[in-house]
Amino acid sequence: MTNQAANLLGLDLNGLVAFCEQLGEKRFRAVQLYRWIHQRGVADFALMSDLAKSLRDKLAGVAMVEGLKVLTEQRSADGTIKWLFDVGNGDAVEAVFIPEDDRATLCISSQAGCAVGCRFCSTGHQGFSRNLATWEIVAQLWFAEHMLRKERGSDERVISNIVMMGMGEPLQNYAALVPALKTFLDDHAYGLSRRRVTVSTSGVVPMIERLREDCPVALAVSLHAPNDPLRDQLVPLNRKYPLEELLAACRSYLTAAPRDFITFEYCMLDGVNDSVEQARELVRLLKGKVSCKLNLIPFNPFPQSGLKKSSREAVQAFAQVLIEAGVVTTVRKTRGDDIDAACGQLAGEVQDRTRAATRMTRAPVTVHRPAKTLPSRPPTP
Ligand code: SAH
Ligand code: SF4
Repeated sequence: MTNQAANLLGLDLNGLVAFCEQLGEKRFRAVQLYRWIHQRGVADFALMSDLAKSLRDKLAGVAMVEGLKVLTEQRSADGTIKWLFDVGNGDAVEAVFIPEDDRATLCISSQAGCAVGCRFCSTGHQGFSRNLATWEIVAQLWFAEHMLRKERGSDERVISNIVMMGMGEPLQNYAALVPALKTFLDDHAYGLSRRRVTVSTSGVVPMIERLREDCPVALAVSLHAPNDPLRDQLVPLNRKYPLEELLAACRSYLTAAPRDFITFEYCMLDGVNDSVEQARELVRLLKGKVSCKLNLIPFNPFPQSGLKKSSREAVQAFAQVLIEAGVVTTVRKTRGDDIDAACGQLAGEVQDRTRAATRMTRAPVTVHRPAKTLPSRPPTP
């Protein structure tokens, strides 16, 4: 054990059991402690009244339960709430609470910045600063759940769904992600079902395979293009893991849960990936190949992207082709527009320590369609 107190938000139940065993304590003590922290939102060991005094004393020296510092909170007219959390060293990440009639979803960040560098994503545009630790991932839920309960004056669960769709590529922070997911699922903590916790990935194929083994939660894959040349430009990771490999990984993921499906996300970009011909190409790519749903996301423009959102007519025509071909397709509503809380607008504040390197490897982008080209990314101001 190091001199520094361990933040217990970073341990899943097995981790906490091991930690307590080192202190000479039995498993059921770890379960009690885990429940106090996650089910009741208590951080102060002295308040954990049914824990043996001897354990509370031991913990006081070696452990702590400490959340993230909230820098700002913004509330939208539609009930969406966005928090900006300080993660130190000039970096900040965001989480977004999205209440709906039949559920309430928390969108969580996994990294400060992101190294994938997708063309249409504000986080990607900032570059990568660092991975979040498990405790920093869990702390977003711990904070939101317990502050909302307090605000409502109720002990009832508020957040029913988690989506790892905030800042960062969760599967590029795999080691920290999995214990966080386990805490989201654990009945002694948040007790969310596997289908209510979604990991969204731009397609880190080897880690999709590992997730199937370690913690097969719902999987969303950010597709955005019906072919490799276009996807290479929009999602640079495609150059490493092209569509054929990605779809094979998706199929194999479903062997762990055959009744499930993959959600493919497709951000609609005007004149780039939104033509009827591209919709047909998408049908050929997906139909009968993998059990899936397609989620069309309206692009949320940001100044440096040089891209525009598709017209409503283009989205409708695109969706129509897919629906007629039997691909289950939905168009995502945007929420929290007035507080910039929608997908891809989670900018946070990240000290980009990799941008110089990333930028040099990023070639100017042109699209393989004759009439229209993707504008090359303007220099960052
Ligand atoms: N890195 C993961 C999860 C975070 S991004 C991933 O890429 O899947 C969550 C979702 O927001 C992804 O589907 C992503 O493609 C989408 N997104 C990113 N920027 C966007 C933008 N400007 N408008 C709409 N959706 C965007
Ligand atoms: Fe990273 Fe996802 Fe944004 Fe791509 S869309 S840059 S993978 S956060």
